[in-house]
Amino acid sequence: MQKNALKKSFISHKWYILLGAVLLITALCLFLVFKQNKKDGKYVKVEQDGKVVGSYPLDEDGRYEFTNFYGSNTLIIQDGKAYVTESTCSDHTCEKMGKVYRQGEMIICIPHKLFITVTGDSKKGGYDGISG
Ligand SMILES: [Zn+2]
Repeated sequence: MQKNALKKSFISHKWYILLGAVLLITALCLFLVFKQNKKDGKYVKVEQDGKVVGSYPLDEDGRYEFTNFYGSNTLIIQDGKAYVTESTCSDHTCEKMGKVYRQGEMIICIPHKLFITVTGDSKKGGYDGISG
């Protein structure tokens, strides 16, 4: 009885190793695919409170301020990279997120509900331009 139980646990242990290996390979594949997709972006899309408030070309240096009910953030675009400074949010995580420039990279300011995403094209993301 005891011997049987031991054998059983050994088999399940082997299964765990196999499962682990499969998961590792899957993760590795996903990582490689993800990495390949990481091309340099062309625009940054800014969403606040679920609404797109702007889209700016990464190849044009600029300084944009976003102020709403929650507070304000300043978005800087310089040398093809975008980053946030002078945020009035409580945690300043957005300022610490550094510079983004590859497609899919994001800067998120949770207290201000601000999402800045690097995109490959200004039209991507399911909206047609912006007025103003
Ligand atoms: Zn913030």
